[in-house]
Amino acid sequence: MTATHSVGRPRPAVDLMPSYRPGKGAAQAEAEHGITNAIKLASNENPLPPIQAIVDAVSAAATGANRYADHRATAVRERLSTWLGVDVESVTVGAGSVGLLQQLFLTYVDPGDEVVYPWRSFEVYPVYTQLMAGTAITTPLNAAHAFDLDAVAAAVTERTKLVLLATPNNPTGTAVSTVDIATLVDGISPATIIVIDEAYREFLDPALGDPVRDLVPRYPNVIVTRTFSKAQGLAGIRAGYAIGHPEVIAAVDKTLFPFAVSALAQVAAIAAIDAADEIALRVSAILSERARVISELVATGWQLPDAQANFVYLPIGERTDEVYLGLERRGVVTRPFSNEGIRVTVSTPDENDRFLRTLAEVFQPTTVS
Ligand SMILES: *Cc1c(COP(=O)(O)O)cnc(C)c1O
Repeated sequence: MTATHSVGRPRPAVDLMPSYRPGKGAAQAEAEHGITNAIKLASNENPLPPIQAIVDAVSAAATGANRYADHRATAVRERLSTWLGVDVESVTVGAGSVGLLQQLFLTYVDPGDEVVYPWRSFEVYPVYTQLMAGTAITTPLNAAHAFDLDAVAAAVTERTKLVLLATPNNPTGTAVSTVDIATLVDGISPATIIVIDEAYREFLDPALGDPVRDLVPRYPNVIVTRTFSKAQGLAGIRAGYAIGHPEVIAAVDKTLFPFAVSALAQVAAIAAIDAADEIALRVSAILSERARVISELVATGWQLPDAQANFVYLPIGERTDEVYLGLERRGVVTRPFSNEGIRVTVSTPDENDRFLRTLAEVFQPTTVS
């Protein structure tokens, strides 16, 4: 049963779909609670504005905005190809990595096709599956809030079109190694595409491997998605990329809506690659803060899952909403997952201190069972 509409007849798949809920902004929290000075640690953004060279490149490109951009973002593909050491036919560019994920669904998922992913994971996976009227097959996380790849392997059948692995995982922050992913992929038919969503690649322990180096050359059915939104601080620009077999890349390219990657996004992506060294320094700063936040939390009794991205996950359980609201009323906006836990972005030292201080006021972890 679907709702009756006074205008139009939305597809049942859309009608039943929840709207995507983005992390709450600081201004909205201030308005809701009558407070000022709120901070947003809810969307895993980079706390710093983009580095100046990127801002300059985007400003300069704005003067040409009367023209359509290069639909294929050829210059970005070429720059990515040399930067990553892969053939240019093996790389593509999209409107953020969620744009590329949607293209993967458009390319591979017909109504009734199965999509396998561990859950809890990235919020857009169920939304896109439902949009295509696909069937989501989810597998539970293990006791460490990490992926159980044996369970994933057992869930894949000949009906599976896509397997989605966010590593590091959002929201739990845990990661899987390319060695373990290879074992999984060895048991999966080439008729199933395995998507490795590496939005947080830059924050990951390199010892876990690099799927572009370790998996893509070996497995034509593995595609890796990455983004300029997090480490590079370009979430508002919408630029992501993917690396995979040329046949997969060519199929995915057909589903890019015309000119989806704006001219500003294209120059920003190239400027960000040019600034890789400066960006690496910023990533190091976030990694030191992540280590500091974790050690302070652990010192006060928290038990946390392994954190491999630019956020920490507090597995609070049934008191999640209460803790989330307590933090938000005091101006610290985080991302709650009701009855499960809270995801908190690692930010600047000042903002992280404020989070730690406020959390200590709101909740004592000794009460975590
Ligand atoms: C933030 C995030 C993305 C990034 O999306 P963009 O569209 O590139 O901004 C992709 N996957 C996961 C798991 C994320 O958390």
